Amino acid sequence: MTKLDVLISEAVERVEQDVVNLRRDLHMHPEVSGKEERTSALVADYLAGLGLEVKRCRNNYGVRGVLRGGRPGPTVALRADMDALPLTEETGLPWASKTPGVMHACGHDVHTAILLGVASVLSSLAGELEGNTTFLFQPSEEFFPGGALGMIEEGMIENPAVEAVFSLHTQPAPVGCISIVEGPIIGSVSTFSLRIFGKGGHFSSPHMAVDPIVTAAHVITALDSMMTRRLDPLDSAVLTFGMIQGGTRDNIIGDMVVLRGNIGSLDESICRVLMEELEKVVQGVTQAMGARYKLKYIHGYPTTRNDPRATDLVRRIAGPIVGPENILVSKPTLGGEDFAYFLQKVPGAMFFLGTQNPDLEPVPVVNHDPRFNPDERAIPIGMKILAHLAARYAREGRE
Ligand SMILES: [Zn+2]
Ligand SMILES: [Zn+2]
Repeated sequence: MTKLDVLISEAVERVEQDVVNLRRDLHMHPEVSGKEERTSALVADYLAGLGLEVKRCRNNYGVRGVLRGGRPGPTVALRADMDALPLTEETGLPWASKTPGVMHACGHDVHTAILLGVASVLSSLAGELEGNTTFLFQPSEEFFPGGALGMIEEGMIENPAVEAVFSLHTQPAPVGCISIVEGPIIGSVSTFSLRIFGKGGHFSSPHMAVDPIVTAAHVITALDSMMTRRLDPLDSAVLTFGMIQGGTRDNIIGDMVVLRGNIGSLDESICRVLMEELEKVVQGVTQAMGARYKLKYIHGYPTTRNDPRATDLVRRIAGPIVGPENILVSKPTLGGEDFAYFLQKVPGAMFFLGTQNPDLEPVPVVNHDPRFNPDERAIPIGMKILAHLAARYAREGRE
């Protein structure tokens, strides 16, 4: 262990309780994607108070802080997301959301607090650091097109030019563990909206009408079959309809059904191919049923791909912090994450931070659940790993 390692660990322990309190404050005041006004002001003030060079985005609520190290070296970026979800919290905790219908249910409050804590720790050790650390606080991760692209477009990873970028995300895995995998860790997502137009009529005379509900039912079933017949069984992808809407009364054949859904895959090209296949199916089925359709789709976040060297550095640094047996190999998820855009520009890695503890009340459940309750003992673990990544990248990250 070097002197710097010891200093980082001591500094984390000194600010740990403040960071937990900060997280609870953020948790009580959640803001949905694109509306992170208070959070971004709090972040900017905090960074300015530490003496960092602070720059705020003009087109979104993104904030950047740059910490100059005492000695020359590369610039490493650490990134956190700041937005909450449109959910009503059901934890009953003293620090539960004070904003009705909005909740930090994906742990972005934890991410933001951890990164502010790391800024505090590293700024107290600036003289010992080689190179610069760029702290990226991005808005709107949960809502496409996200906040990362806007920050990149506004030059937040330039001047100083970022050489590597790291981030973490809370995960419903045991607290004390982290998990990571090299290559794709979070999949890419395409979103679609499909309108099926039929011809309305009386329920007793379907032959005089074109029933969009029956057509939609066939479309859904045919698309389920498409996923097993058109997709290479060795590739992974998922198609889910999250919404279906149609009809006004039980005895009326309506004239339109709206379906919305997502396709997720570890590979953007698979999403694109499946979207083309989806349109072929929709075209064929609606035509056969005498209906018409309108399909709109957006290719959303690309795949989040961890660089092998950056992944290895995360593992090496996390080893002494959590114990090598607590570094799990992450299964990739098909969820979608706009950190992917940073990784398209510079190499880096995202790792998952375990936040689950079955003894907590309420028992922490999965992200995006109104009872989401991460174990705050994960906070110093996340802080230590990120602080060490920034501090040790210059010497160990380029090996
Ligand atoms: Zn989320
Ligand atoms: Zn998230």
